[in-house]
Amino acid sequence: MLCLDLSEKRALITGSTRGIGRAVAEFLAKSGAKVVITGRDASRAEEVAEEIARNYRVETLGLAMNLGEEGSIREAYSKVEEKWGGVDVLVNNAGITRDKLFLRMSPEDWEEVIRINLTGTFLLTSLAIKGMLKNRWGRVVNLSSVVGFTGNVGQVNYASTKSALIGFTKSLAKELAGRNITVNAVAPGFIETDMTAGLKEELKQEYLKNIPLGRFGKPEDVAGAVLFLCSDLASYITGEVLHVNGGMY
Ligand code: NAD
Repeated sequence: MLCLDLSEKRALITGSTRGIGRAVAEFLAKSGAKVVITGRDASRAEEVAEEIARNYRVETLGLAMNLGEEGSIREAYSKVEEKWGGVDVLVNNAGITRDKLFLRMSPEDWEEVIRINLTGTFLLTSLAIKGMLKNRWGRVVNLSSVVGFTGNVGQVNYASTKSALIGFTKSLAKELAGRNITVNAVAPGFIETDMTAGLKEELKQEYLKNIPLGRFGKPEDVAGAVLFLCSDLASYITGEVLHVNGGMY
């Protein structure tokens, strides 16, 4: 059946109070899924969850989850289990940059990015797949990046995590396929969010020259790809990377 309907599905999206994560949460909610909004700030997460519940008439939860802290991940996920018994869809979206040229990069700059972008993804995924294994249905989508494929000046730490997420995705896809759980990645190019808002105008214009579609992406451009991978339309796709970059790579 040709179907983007996700009603009955429970989805958790990390870093979903703004940017790409929020657009993903809205697309999943629009398709009928119950969504868990998470971010570092509990009141902001609750606010966004309430707004989405009102706009799309679905059940939502808003929770504080700091991906840099194992205790926070465990505490938040236990609340999800308490309320909904677990999730069917996990979108590992939250990520940070700490850009610096390699020669100036401190061990702290390195470790913080690894901890949040990679270890946080590992810890939460290992909790979230338990219910999926039992139900023999699940979707995991990881947010990588074009720079995980091309590399980028000033982003040795960030690009390393985004390449690592591809190895994570492809290996986990093989381990979970027998239980009807798909694991895929989406690799955005340059998307207009808070993450890219601070970049210098000259640098943005430089990037723009390399985008054949002639514009920067919007969070919704990425959300469409994530929704597709979570839907029944993508039930025979696993271990794959969907590039959403206007043709730049
Ligand atoms: P953003 O900075 O606008 O949003 C990031 C989200 O992650 C926010 O909700 C933030 O609160 C959350 N977050 C940050 N640190 C966290 C922590 N310790 N614990 C929990 N949540 C935390 O960024 P975005 O552009 O929406 O990026 C979303 C994802 O897409 C990231 O993984 C990013 O690496 C990836 N991506 C973005 C672009 C782009 O051009 N914007 C390109 C490629 C990949």
